[in-house]
Amino acid sequence: MPSVASSGTHRRSLRDLAAGDLAGRRALVRVDFNVPLGGDPPQVRDPARIRAALPTIEHLRAAGARVVLMSHLGRPKGRPDPALSLRPVGRELEALIGADVGFVDDPLAAAAVDEVARLQPGGILLLENLRFWPGETDADPAFAAALARLGDLFVQDAFGTLHRAHASTSAVPAVLRPAVAGLLLAAEFEAFARLREEPARPYVAILGGAKISGKLETLRAILEHADRVLVGGGMASTFYLARGWEVGGSLVEHELVQVAAELLDAHGAERLEIAMDAVVAHDVRHPASPRVVAAAAMAPDTSVGDIGPRSRAAFARRIDEAATVFWNGPMGIFESPAFAEGTLAVARAVARATERGAYTVVGGGDSVAALAQMGLQGSVSHVSTGGGAGLELLAGRVLPGLAALESA
Ligand code: ADP
Ligand code: MG
Repeated sequence: MPSVASSGTHRRSLRDLAAGDLAGRRALVRVDFNVPLGGDPPQVRDPARIRAALPTIEHLRAAGARVVLMSHLGRPKGRPDPALSLRPVGRELEALIGADVGFVDDPLAAAAVDEVARLQPGGILLLENLRFWPGETDADPAFAAALARLGDLFVQDAFGTLHRAHASTSAVPAVLRPAVAGLLLAAEFEAFARLREEPARPYVAILGGAKISGKLETLRAILEHADRVLVGGGMASTFYLARGWEVGGSLVEHELVQVAAELLDAHGAERLEIAMDAVVAHDVRHPASPRVVAAAAMAPDTSVGDIGPRSRAAFARRIDEAATVFWNGPMGIFESPAFAEGTLAVARAVARATERGAYTVVGGGDSVAALAQMGLQGSVSHVSTGGGAGLELLAGRVLPGLAALESA
């Protein structure tokens, strides 16, 4: 069992800084404003990520800091792309926070320093999309230095980008100190530390979704901590194939069949529980007549769309017994009502577990979207804002953006 220190998430946070460290100081804050835009002119379609950054921004404003926000948005490939400007995000932030948000078109220009200097205590500036400059993804030290000259301290609050070694995630904190975790990040670290370090038992993890390659590796690490791992969603079919069963046209990762077979051999059905039945259809994109079959008895002209009713009941029973729950990845193609039951059953069971006092964490963009669709996002202990980053933390990997911050 890995030691407590090995999870490596213990970092200094904004709360560890005294008011005197913040008053009048320029706080350069890396936020995750990579939000969906739509329409013409572009507008923010879902402000969830902007909302998630508000506690840190409010904390800094209340302490009299001058707040300089920076983020990436989409993949503009190192040059300006008007469709990916952060301006509409700045306007959305203004509306949410009820205060002016200034905008800096070119953080490299001399004028940027002056604009920051003119900022009043509690004032906010947002820098243009960092990925308009190649130095961001290249982690160019000169670009990082140009950003660092706009702050007296660095606050990292972009959980979803911690796995990237970019200028704003790892190069800026290397040269700008203090470099601390924001409130959102601190809450994420706390949640994942709690899962890795002495979780209340039984600890049940549920994994599903479509991004199998990354997740299967993580599953190996989660099996070291969890008492039981339940597998549904697209991930399950790779295990069926590893058992030599027919999977028809289901989503599978052929390169990982060997890994799946090893995991099954090493852990057995007691700890690694793969969905035993499935809802299948001839064409999962147009499910005319979905059918329930045993996972071992699929026909070649069908594909898995969801876990079946026996798996739903079995998974719900495990979750009902758990004291700690981690869930990442929908159990089926929940966007289609024909395949939503499995995800719905897990979401309800996790909410029920929370209600009776279990500690529950849900991560992954689509899993959180599914939870929100059911109106249950307030019914779990912690909703994680980063899918991949959370899985990496659970696997004990040291993320570049995390390593760059000061230890607690
Ligand atoms: P998250 O965003 O929660 O980390 P993923 O991105 O890995 O989850 O996967 C979410 C997607 O997985 C959903 O769009 C869902 O439709 C899809 N999915 C779930 N089960 C299956 C399946 N059996 N076959 C194909 N796609 C699936
Ligand atoms: Mg996803």
